[in-house]
Amino acid sequence: MLHIPFDNSYARLPDRFYARLGPTPVAAPGLIAVNAALAEELGIDPQALTAPEGLAMLAGNAIPEGAEPIAQAYAGHQFGGWSPQLGDGRAILLGEVVDRQGTRRDLQLKGSGPTPFSRRGDGRAWLGPVLREYIVSEAMHALGVPTTRALAAVTTGEQVLREAPYPGAVLTRVASSHIRVGTFQYFAARQDSEALQILTDHALARHYPQAEGPMGLLTAAVAAQARLVAQWMALGFIHGVMNTDNAHVGGETIDYGPCAFIDDYHPDRVFSSIDQFGRYAYSNQPQVAIWNLAQFASALLPLMGEDRNAAIEKATEAVYRFPDLYRSEWLARFRAKLGLETAEDGDAELIETLLGRMAVLKADYTRVFRGLAEGTARTEFAEPEAYDRWQADWQARLAREGRSPEQARVAMARVNPAVIPRNHRIEQAIQAGVAGDLAPFHALNAALARPFDAAPDDPLRAAPAPEEAVRRTFCG
Ligand code: AMP
Ligand code: MG
Ligand code: MG
Repeated sequence: MLHIPFDNSYARLPDRFYARLGPTPVAAPGLIAVNAALAEELGIDPQALTAPEGLAMLAGNAIPEGAEPIAQAYAGHQFGGWSPQLGDGRAILLGEVVDRQGTRRDLQLKGSGPTPFSRRGDGRAWLGPVLREYIVSEAMHALGVPTTRALAAVTTGEQVLREAPYPGAVLTRVASSHIRVGTFQYFAARQDSEALQILTDHALARHYPQAEGPMGLLTAAVAAQARLVAQWMALGFIHGVMNTDNAHVGGETIDYGPCAFIDDYHPDRVFSSIDQFGRYAYSNQPQVAIWNLAQFASALLPLMGEDRNAAIEKATEAVYRFPDLYRSEWLARFRAKLGLETAEDGDAELIETLLGRMAVLKADYTRVFRGLAEGTARTEFAEPEAYDRWQADWQARLAREGRSPEQARVAMARVNPAVIPRNHRIEQAIQAGVAGDLAPFHALNAALARPFDAAPDDPLRAAPAPEEAVRRTFCG
C-alpha cells in the first residue's frame, strides 16, 4: 500500500503564493528508476512506489492521499533580464513530508503538464533532461554537495516535441523547499509586504530556525551560498543557469539544466548552449552568486524598517560578507584537495599556480586532483615538467604538515572524486535510454553513488577522447 505522510505547509500559505491544480495525466506510465534509499529516508515504501498505484502517482495520473497539489508562483532575473512572472510552468508540488531526520522535504513532479505559469511552454520534459537531472543531482549528493534529489523517474508513453519528437518523462524531485530568490522577488515586485513577511517566516522556519527576521535570513542565505558555490568550484561544476529563480534560499543546488562538470580545465569554461556571453562561466559563479544575493537583499528591503537608507546599509553589509566567506570556504576546500590540514599564507598561490598550469596545458580537472592522491597527476600534463616544478613546492609544503604523506593521500582520496558525471557519459546514457536501453543510465548511477571508490581501471574515470567530448549542453 502506498502511504505518504504528507504535511503541506506551503499549501497553507495564502492563495496568491500558488495556483491549485494537479498534474496532467499521461498515456502510459513506465518505470525508469526509483531511488529506494531516498524513499526510505522519507518514510515511503520503495516497493509501493514501483507498484501500479505508485507508478500512477509518479507519472501524475493519480493524486496520492494527503497531497495538495500546487504550482508555485515566482519571478526572477534570467541572464540579468527581469521576468516579473515565471512560476512552476512544468512542475507540480504534490506536498511535503517530514523525513526521518525531522527535515521537511518537498515532493515535486517535474514535467507534469501545463500550469497557469507555463507561458508558451508545453509543461513537459523529455527523457534526456530527466535522466540528466537524476544522474547529476544524485551524484552531487554523493559528493556531499547540498542539492535537490531525485526520488524517481518515469516515462509517459507520450512524445515531447523539441528539435525533434522525443519520449516524454517525469522526474520526482525532492528538495528541502522550492523557495527561490525569485519567490521573494515575485512579492517585492508586487509591493506585497504582507506576503514577503509570511514568506520570510516560512523560509526561516524551514531553513534557518536559529535565525531571526529578514536580516537573519539574508545573512544565513549569504553564508549558505558562499559554501555552496565553493563546493561547486572545488568539484569543477558549472551550474549553467544561475538565474535568480534558480537560486535556492536554503543553499541547495537546484535546476539541473545545461550544467556540466569540467573535463579539461579552463576558468572560462562554458557549456550551456544558451549562455552566449559566458555570464555563467565557471570562474564567474561566485560573482553571479553575489549579484543574486543583492537581488535577494533588494527584495527584503521593505521588511527592514522605515529608514530606507539604514536598511540599504545593513543589507549591503550582509551581502558584502560573501567575498570573505567564499574565500575561506574556497581555501578550505582546495587545501583539502592538496592534502593540507594546516593553513599557510602561500597556500592560495600554490593552488592558483596548479590551476594556472592545468589551464594552459588543458589538463583534466578531476584526473589531476585524484592523481595527487594516487601519485599519477604528472601523467595528466601534456608537459610534465610544468607539473614537476609545482610538485616540488607542493612536496615542501606537505612536509610542513603534521601528518605523514600516506595520511595525506588517504585524506585527499576522500575529497577528490575518481568518478564524476562526465558530459559524454551522460550523453551516452541518454542516447541509449532513448533507444530503450537503460543499462548505461543505471551503471552510471551505481558508480556515482560511490564517487571516491572507483577502481583504478574503471572506464568511467577516463577523460573523453577528443571525438567523445561534449562541449555543449542544452536546457530541454
Ligand atoms: P528554467 O530555465 O529551467 O529555470 O525555467 C525557467 C522558467 O521556464 C520556469 O518558470 C519554468 O517552469 C519554465 N519552463 C521551462 N520549461 C518549460 C516547459 N517545457 N513548459 C512550461 N514551462 C517551462
Ligand atoms: Mg528553474
Ligand atoms: Mg530548468
